[in-house]
Amino acid sequence: MVDRGSAKLTIVTDDGNQRPDGELRLENGRRLHLAGSGTSITVGERVLAHAPGSVYRVVDASGTEHALVWLDSQSRDWQLDQARLLCRTGIVHAAFCWPIDLVLDDELNERGILLPLVEGRFETLSKFLHRSDLTFDLRLTVTSELADALGKLHHTGLCFPGLDSGVYADPQSGDIALIGWEAVSDGTRYFLGNPTVMAPELTKGEELPSPYTDNHALAVHLFLIFMRGHPLDHELELDDPEFPPDPVFVFDPADASHRPPPDPLVVTWWHMYPKFFQEHFIQTFTVGLSDPPRRVSPDEWRDVINRLRSYSGECECGALVFYDPQEPQKTCWRCEATLGLGSGD
Ligand SMILES: [Zn+2]
Repeated sequence: MVDRGSAKLTIVTDDGNQRPDGELRLENGRRLHLAGSGTSITVGERVLAHAPGSVYRVVDASGTEHALVWLDSQSRDWQLDQARLLCRTGIVHAAFCWPIDLVLDDELNERGILLPLVEGRFETLSKFLHRSDLTFDLRLTVTSELADALGKLHHTGLCFPGLDSGVYADPQSGDIALIGWEAVSDGTRYFLGNPTVMAPELTKGEELPSPYTDNHALAVHLFLIFMRGHPLDHELELDDPEFPPDPVFVFDPADASHRPPPDPLVVTWWHMYPKFFQEHFIQTFTVGLSDPPRRVSPDEWRDVINRLRSYSGECECGALVFYDPQEPQKTCWRCEATLGLGSGD
């Protein structure tokens, strides 16, 4: 069983120096050595209680701050195996909160995991999407980064079923943080996550996590970000606990049973986008629902998102519009002026 990841952090209440499992708290100023680099870190304040242990703020020899997860005895082996796998792989993309090194105790046993500090500028994707000041440019930046990071991960043979709860975004820059290194997977363990985002074969327990199951979750995220609604059930939001076992895409060209979505905003946005963009969602959420290799890959998404950027523009009435090379007579959704072909690519 996989923990849902470090996204679920809780603030520590001061329980003295002795934890219930008998673990001594690391004192401020203590020096510990790193297993890989051989350099040392200095322990600062304990900031969080975390599923596999306690989290401390630490400083390395160059003065850079990091986070240290000092593991409890119960979950130590699994967490260390996972951290070793990721340290061996190396950091695949700057967005991932990825183990940097293992940390040794006084007996030179691997006992802690050094991680980057996630800055406070990042907020949950759910909160990010409810912002009233979210520009379309930010949506493009966040989604392009997300697809790029996931593609880089897949090229190593790993996948990230923790995508369901691990996406954080900076509302100023559009940078993303992918939190939940415990949920990065080599496809050897089942994963229980949020069924509204997970691939159907994963929620049914029929398959193990894979890049294909990630590709479904990625497309759900992209649909939520671009269309402002859920692609498979119009009642759902990102954090709803229930999900139908055999979902139908709300814009499935051959099955209108889930159409129209009750929120007219989703319909308006869907029709605003060029057909080449819509087709990627149709492929993933129709044939791709039952045939996982047919789902659009992160690299394809990154390319089509960048292409979408080149087809976006502003109508003379001031509305955000998208030119469509397959629909040269397309009109503005607001003033109904003909848009023409635009610059495109
Ligand atoms: Zn217009």
